[in-house]
Amino acid sequence: HLGEDAPTSDTISVYVRVRPLSDRENAAGGAAARQCVQVAQERAVVLSDSTRSEPYVASYDRVFGPDAVQDEIYAAVGEQAVNNCLAGFNASIFVYGQTGAGKTFTITGDTSRQPDDGSLAQGCGLSLRVFQRLFDRITDLEGEGIRYTVKCSYVEVYNEELSDLLASGTSGGGGALSVREGDKRGVYVEGLTEHVAVNADDVLRLVQRGSANRHTAATRMNKCSSRSHSVFTAVVEAHQTQRDSGCTTVRFAMLNLIDLAGSERVSKSGATGEQLTEAKKINQSLTTLGRVVTALTEHQKHVPYRDSRLTFLLKDSLGGNSRTSIIACISPSEESAQETHGTLVFASGAKKI
Ligand code: ADP
Ligand code: MG
Repeated sequence: HLGEDAPTSDTISVYVRVRPLSDRENAAGGAAARQCVQVAQERAVVLSDSTRSEPYVASYDRVFGPDAVQDEIYAAVGEQAVNNCLAGFNASIFVYGQTGAGKTFTITGDTSRQPDDGSLAQGCGLSLRVFQRLFDRITDLEGEGIRYTVKCSYVEVYNEELSDLLASGTSGGGGALSVREGDKRGVYVEGLTEHVAVNADDVLRLVQRGSANRHTAATRMNKCSSRSHSVFTAVVEAHQTQRDSGCTTVRFAMLNLIDLAGSERVSKSGATGEQLTEAKKINQSLTTLGRVVTALTEHQKHVPYRDSRLTFLLKDSLGGNSRTSIIACISPSEESAQETHGTLVFASGAKKI
């Protein structure tokens, strides 16, 4: 990719999003209905629950409270990812947090369009907004003589195994794929299908097809999709022909949207045997992600990409010439205080102050 100046200088940005109390939490009353999270000046989170003698306070690049709408998240996180990608930098957006904290809502949300004018729904999450913007910018840039190709792929990492959610003929969970690293190509997934998209609705169809496969496979194999990581990748190729020499240069950058498995701890569910092995493997990718991010933030020499499938897959998009955003999603309910604390600690570890 290109060595241009980055539009944003931070390689890793960390955000927190607090969702509103859910109807269930409200109806349950007691600790479930008690809010233990406060947002201070859009930068800090104050967690005060009854088990803590002092509140836990931590600050981040930005904290979004329960009233933040989808477009605010997009404006703060999504738009710069598109700009970075078009400037030649690999860009990734991760959503992290316990099951039910708002990860899928944040990254996907309501993907229906308004029936009258086809505009995005208010609840529309990051991905469709990001691709709408990407293709709008591409249309502008093509007017200036650059030609673009956008190739998409969608994989699931479950139990440290990788599967192609868009392979034809599979209803999800097709054969496990291998991640390889080549001298020129960098890291790639062997046999992964790529799908050209020319507008945001093409991308949406791919996301929907992949998500449907993910659910079918989850049901068939009696596994839970909240335990798998899903990675949607768009490779953006820019072809530019020099007017004087007639030479065509091709540069490319990747845009990754990653819906991580639930970060809740294993012990709580009392998992044993196969379930425990599975839980450990899920944690392996999440724990390694934490260690990779910390190693990058602290500029450590050794970054343990190879310790998990997810981090190896994303090696070229984490660190180096790339920009990463992590959105830590949390519930405000006191019932979730322990998990929320874990999520905030993870997010703090990704942010060197
Ligand atoms: P996760 O993917 O982390 O398991 P979800 O995104 O599925 O969690 O969210 C759980 C529930 O909470 C869903 O019904 C979702 O619509 C709702 N929800 C999550 N975040 C918000 C939010 N910021 N505002 C309103 N509802 C939300
Ligand atoms: Mg989810």
